[in-house]
Amino acid sequence: MTASIELQALTKRYGARTALDGLTLQIAPRCFAALLGPNGAGKSTLFQILTGLFAADGGEALIAGHSIRKQPVAALAALGVVFQQMSLDLDLSVERNLRFHAALHGLPRAVTSERIDQGCTALGIAKDLKRAVRELSGGNRRKVELVRALLHRPAVLLMDEASVGLDPASRRDLLAALRADVAARGTTVLWATHLVEEAVQADRVLVLHHGKLIADGTPDDVTRALGEPTLEAGFIQRTTTTKHKETVDS
Ligand code: ADP
Repeated sequence: MTASIELQALTKRYGARTALDGLTLQIAPRCFAALLGPNGAGKSTLFQILTGLFAADGGEALIAGHSIRKQPVAALAALGVVFQQMSLDLDLSVERNLRFHAALHGLPRAVTSERIDQGCTALGIAKDLKRAVRELSGGNRRKVELVRALLHRPAVLLMDEASVGLDPASRRDLLAALRADVAARGTTVLWATHLVEEAVQADRVLVLHHGKLIADGTPDDVTRALGEPTLEAGFIQRTTTTKHKETVDS
């Protein structure tokens, strides 16, 4: 079976700093994976490579079997993204924002209308379709971005710290909506976060630190591998004391 996301020895450097250090992994279809890492771990760098914004210095990244470097059009067509920074036009209505994105992907009008209706209804924002995005709360803006990211029915959805700034109820709704989509359509989700409470809800947790995977598995597996009673304790312990341990080990 083709992996939804495959990284082969992916490396990215900024001068002397290695942001991604030979990252190798595969994420299977229908998986809801959390990419958990502290600030500076390399999460944004990975997303920038996966979305084609930056090129890697070495290795390969494939989306649904398509190399981002060699087959960028096919790879990007299989990708939906919700960026950390809001990227809607505030002065346009929710519907205009969504229709614009659908047109970029070449979706027919009737299909667009049906998907906008379905997505906004599922997320409880159908009543806001004619309102300017500027009038919406932060939580509802994020929901519009999620509907938008799924309009072209991507195989893979990247969420880059997508819940930052949302209140707990909005965060919960967003996660629930994603879960529903994974279940209904088999979308693969890679959810970057520095919040352990979000990662524990994933099927698989990938712990990134200094551009390397230091643990990978179900939340329970990762908790055991990190050797502390809870995932949070293990995460804090390993990502705040590794430098000291490396010094001691070497
Ligand atoms: P995260 O998203 O997990 O916080 P980043 O991918 O932003 O991590 O950063 C990984 C490492 O790369 C950090 O050490 C960061 O300082 C460095 N870095 C990221 N972007 C740049 C850049 N444009 N120029 C130089 N260094 C960068």
